[in-house]
Amino acid sequence: MIPFQRIVQTLSLAAFLILLGLAFFPVPDWAPVDAFLRLDPLVLAGTVLADRAWIAALAPAVLILALTVVLGRFFCGYLCPMGTTLDLTDRLARIPRSAGKGRSSGELSAQDDPSAPILPPPSQPSSGLRRVKYLILFFILAAAVLGVSTVFLASPLSLITRFYTLLVHPAASLLGDAALHVLRPLALHLDWTWAAYAELHQPRFTTQWFLLLFFLAVFSLARWSPRFWCRYLCPSGALLALVGRRPLIRRTVSETCTDCGACQRRCPMAAIPANPSRTIHEECIACQECVRICPVQAVTFQPSREFGGKTPSFSPQRREALLAGLAGAGTATLTYTGLLEVRDEMLPGDITPETLLRPPGSLPERYFLARCIRCGLCMRACPTNTLQPIWFQAGAVALFSPRLTPRRGPCEPECTACGRVCPTGAIRDLPLTEKTWAKVGTATILRHKCLAWEWNKKCLVCDEVCPYDAIDLRRVATHSQPVPFVDGRKCSGCGFCEYHCPVRAASAIIVEPMEALRLGAGSYKVHGQDMGLMLHVVSPDQAEYAPFDLETPDTAFAPLPDAVPDKDALPPGFTP
Ligand code: SF4
Ligand code: SF4
Repeated sequence: MIPFQRIVQTLSLAAFLILLGLAFFPVPDWAPVDAFLRLDPLVLAGTVLADRAWIAALAPAVLILALTVVLGRFFCGYLCPMGTTLDLTDRLARIPRSAGKGRSSGELSAQDDPSAPILPPPSQPSSGLRRVKYLILFFILAAAVLGVSTVFLASPLSLITRFYTLLVHPAASLLGDAALHVLRPLALHLDWTWAAYAELHQPRFTTQWFLLLFFLAVFSLARWSPRFWCRYLCPSGALLALVGRRPLIRRTVSETCTDCGACQRRCPMAAIPANPSRTIHEECIACQECVRICPVQAVTFQPSREFGGKTPSFSPQRREALLAGLAGAGTATLTYTGLLEVRDEMLPGDITPETLLRPPGSLPERYFLARCIRCGLCMRACPTNTLQPIWFQAGAVALFSPRLTPRRGPCEPECTACGRVCPTGAIRDLPLTEKTWAKVGTATILRHKCLAWEWNKKCLVCDEVCPYDAIDLRRVATHSQPVPFVDGRKCSGCGFCEYHCPVRAASAIIVEPMEALRLGAGSYKVHGQDMGLMLHVVSPDQAEYAPFDLETPDTAFAPLPDAVPDKDALPPGFTP
């Protein structure tokens, strides 16, 4: 019979993956696509401390902490998609080479059959390694107390969401599209036009190789012990362990125990010490492997009134915990000195990289970085693949945070997906009327590259594609062809112009974060109107086309020589 724990784990992972699948523009209103991320107690603690504000969306994690007091680390054993994924990959990594031979798929392995002799335990790293997860936890919490979030480095929910959204999904869609391509002739032959012309959205992300190597390393640690990550490294697990040191419902061993040690060798968390009637409760994930393996049914999980300190426990030494906390605080302090380059618009001398565009509705940078857990959901949801994780362009503390890359894709005026899926509110969930006013930057024409300005060619592309009608084509005395001007009051920074600009490789019109609106609260529309902005999406048939009046360029250009190049010739690569 399939154990209850496996059924719950399977359903939980399936729900997690289905929700990730739904996290794509247009995100259905009814789907709580970020639900799992809001269950992670480390996300709650680290984000609330760093942001210094209560974040109501993360309240479900409080429920998990409360239930942990009663049930122990059930979250790790049943709900956590990282834990379930590790159980799956552990099985693959630990299949004994000889075990698969001569056994049909329906037969049980020696590990699965309670009546089979117990296999010798795998080599296990020192139990002192358990301290590492507490040290990582104290590091993250101390940095958060000083306002710097490093939750993204080790939150299991953030990591596993990134794994599935930024790595597995792109790989799966690439394979799916290749399969469609192979089947296309057959589909055409059968007149299945829906299949013949079907295409899969194929996102690409800049950190995929790093993610792949990181997760290969995490998965291969199973060679040393099952759930290596959970036992030794996971700070969320450490936080749950601190809360669930004496759960009300816990493992209990009756006197019928024969001391055979089967449960001790089977426990995936090494939560059973040499004396199998005892339990390290804070390590137990209540998976009940010990109940199933026990040949004399001596093990049960039941309410226990014993609150004494008899059970062995692993805790970090006070000095180590202090050092980890100091390291976290030191890291946070470094960011304020500029060495790790955290940004705050309120500080004089702000050094935000001049090309860093955040998604529309992003909080002011300091609060954005405090809240963003780098889960990648916004990047997954973005229909144009413009949102990309960054490396160190904005310092170590901004690692993997999302940026808008208009050259890769523009920001769709009709889309609010990134704010809709963000679990922590780092990107505000704005209605479309507000998002229209969430200016991410302003386009700037690089005249030395522009076909119209530099080469006196007829090019209308940026004017034609701009959904906000922010580009004016005008005639100027120095040019025989109209040249583009950007009206900063109408420009939202959506990047359609940069994306479509025919100049290769880098565009002749780029969006910079100049005049970006980053509001922690309040109405973008009201604020934008106060600033004199005029942001409206204009359909192509409403767009006012260039008044082609003779104007003087706003920079001093030398008069053109008499021999102006062919006036009506289109730029290279264009057809009328
Ligand atoms: S220990 Fe961490 S990774 Fe493992 S199951 Fe628990 S929360 Fe998930
Ligand atoms: S960046 Fe723009 S297009 Fe992408 S998800 Fe956000 S609102 Fe949508």
